[in-house]
Amino acid sequence: MKIKEEVLASVIGMLLTDGGISVISKNKLEVFLTSNSEALRESFKQNLQILFPNLNLKFQTVHGRTVKKIRVCSREVGVEFLKFSTTFRTRPCNTFPVCPKFRGVPERAVPHECNSLNGFPPATLPSFIINGTPAVKRVALRSAMTCDGGIEFHKIVHNGKEYLQRRLLLRCHNPNLLGQWERVFVACGFKITKTINEIRITGKKNNLKSSETK
Ligand SMILES: [Zn+2]
Repeated sequence: MKIKEEVLASVIGMLLTDGGISVISKNKLEVFLTSNSEALRESFKQNLQILFPNLNLKFQTVHGRTVKKIRVCSREVGVEFLKFSTTFRTRPCNTFPVCPKFRGVPERAVPHECNSLNGFPPATLPSFIINGTPAVKRVALRSAMTCDGGIEFHKIVHNGKEYLQRRLLLRCHNPNLLGQWERVFVACGFKITKTINEIRITGKKNNLKSSETK
């Protein structure tokens, strides 16, 4: 059984990638994960049930045009997560989903926190992950990479033999957040390269599973 911090880290890894929190109305917050993977949607749901055993959470699966979304509308759950990051939007202010402060008004007319971050919302990795135990860090990395990551295969030649080398990667367009993910990868001992919008694990030890402590 995972400890609660690991469950929390897993959900936050999802919310900062393919998930999010939207304001539906004054008293309603929607906490969601957009994913066509039923296993991922189920894991999101189960983790929230573990974290909030006393709330009778009602989950809905919404079928979008191309992608499914699981959501729960709960102010309590939303407020709890917003303590860790003031927003879970990671895309620039003027792209979808549009920053609430940007909507309908020229960007320069509205001073707000995204302006100081080149138009990127101040989504952040919580310190309990950045400074967390190796297990907490790995859970967060794995969760984020499962949502918004990938695997690349590269042909390498070693001692005259050809091998396929597997490279894991995490995509993230938000430069601040990308820098924070980088710190977590490095703290876990991974060799990485960072581009403008992704982090690739380049070292030999590129398997999150084999480096697990349990
Ligand atoms: Zn903004």
